[in-house]
Amino acid sequence: MDKREVINLAAKFIPRRTLFFDVIVTEHCNLNCKGCGSFMPLADEEYIDLEDLEKDYKRLVYCIIDI
Ligand code: SF4
Repeated sequence: MDKREVINLAAKFIPRRTLFFDVIVTEHCNLNCKGCGSFMPLADEEYIDLEDLEKDYKRLVYCIIDI
């Protein structure tokens, strides 16, 4: 087992003190960069539903509260 494998194995058993996640609030962008590779300027202007986001957060808290 090499050093990297040991670190990865240890990471599975060390409790995390922080939680990171991304929230995609829109897939649209009103900039128009020449090098854009995501095609976001072409996407319809839609935004995340705040009620859905609130439900997601509540569910997330419910799921992690016992961790
Ligand atoms: S690269 Fe694309 S998504 Fe990023 S800011 Fe520019 S146009 Fe918007």
